Amino acid sequence: MKTIAILGSTGSIGTQSIDVAQKRGYKVAALTAHSNAELLERQARLLKPEKVALYDENAAKDLKIKLRDTNVEVLSGMQGICECAAVSSADTVINSIVGMAGLRPTLAVINAGKQLALANKESLVAGGKLVTESARKNGVPILPVDSEHSAIFQCLQGKPSNRALKKIILTASGGPFFGKTKSELENVTAADALKHPNWSMGAKITIDSATMFNKGLELIEAVWLFGVEPSMVDIVVHRESIVHSMVEYDDNAVIAQLGLPDMRIPIQYALTYPERYASPVEEIDFASVAKLTFYKPDYDTFRCINICRSAIDKGGLAPAAVNSANEEINRLFREGKVRFNDIPDLITEGASAAPNMESYTADDIDETDKVVRSAVLSAISRKD
Ligand code: NAD
Ligand code: MG
Repeated sequence: MKTIAILGSTGSIGTQSIDVAQKRGYKVAALTAHSNAELLERQARLLKPEKVALYDENAAKDLKIKLRDTNVEVLSGMQGICECAAVSSADTVINSIVGMAGLRPTLAVINAGKQLALANKESLVAGGKLVTESARKNGVPILPVDSEHSAIFQCLQGKPSNRALKKIILTASGGPFFGKTKSELENVTAADALKHPNWSMGAKITIDSATMFNKGLELIEAVWLFGVEPSMVDIVVHRESIVHSMVEYDDNAVIAQLGLPDMRIPIQYALTYPERYASPVEEIDFASVAKLTFYKPDYDTFRCINICRSAIDKGGLAPAAVNSANEEINRLFREGKVRFNDIPDLITEGASAAPNMESYTADDIDETDKVVRSAVLSAISRKD
């Protein structure tokens, strides 16, 4: 029987991972979350893991009391999460933590020699070189959970040789503001941005989809996962979210992966790879989908895509810096403290505060994060 651990088990990907794990009959050895003790208690009673961890120390104390009649070990803080990430009985660990808080857990999974099913794209964006080099050194695969990257991974199965791959075509839904002009976006709020047309996801990634920063993160994610040059990654807007991404070979043959927009397909594939099994997701009814449309992204209105492209072109810590700036600004936008159209300039300004360096450690990434976040906060207070 397969044994897994789920980091970020209370979130959108985390709860869908539990659904997949239960349907496949997997044992769950560890669960972690930020602070939702009620939900983690329910999950722990259902799945009987060996260990659980909450990042928040007080919430962990509360959970320890709630679970005192069980054998579940309750841990806390980043150290507790990393201990769960390395739980000895698990063979695969799903990292579905949101944000660069997922970096140390990603490294903990890899250093423990476990397969990493990665939804937490921010850890790969912030620490791409570090993460992929550690994975290579430890001989562990990184199995993509992000739907586009799962699609590309699926399209690459049976690839003749690296030279035959011409490009990767990432599809983007375009988010809730597709087709809008800059002036129409002047007064949009977080509530408007949270209405995603096709996917139901956590708040941070939903805002990132509205700014299309998410597609920039995914471009960087693709570069690291598939070892391609950034110039080999094209982006096309596909409103229906049925084609999850494509690869084009030297002979101009394009292979695509299609399915209904439901994350349980890529989650399950990351857990069963290279095998496939029946899934809880329905089949596509092509006649009712009727048509699939494709558009060039509006790079002038959605400037975050090219901010990420420049960052990966620069390399080193530049992707970490734009990622941290975006995390901070994303939160402030959700709190109503930043205007939608100010987001791209604020990201650029915040990210430029940190010095770049070619090779780096996890501590350097944390230092960049600190510098950038405080630069964002002072840029915003100057605007007030
Ligand atoms: P979410 O907000 O619904 O859940 C996030 C999880 O991380 C929660 O369990 C939360 O408790 C935990 N968490 C948050 N901050 C933490 C911290 N500081 N320390 C430890 N744990 C913390 O997010 P989500 O939508 O499930 O997204 C998770 C990741 O998967 C993100 O990186 C996102 O980009 C990626 N992803 C999500 C989707 C989706 O459909 N939701 C699709 C593709 C990729
Ligand atoms: Mg995606």
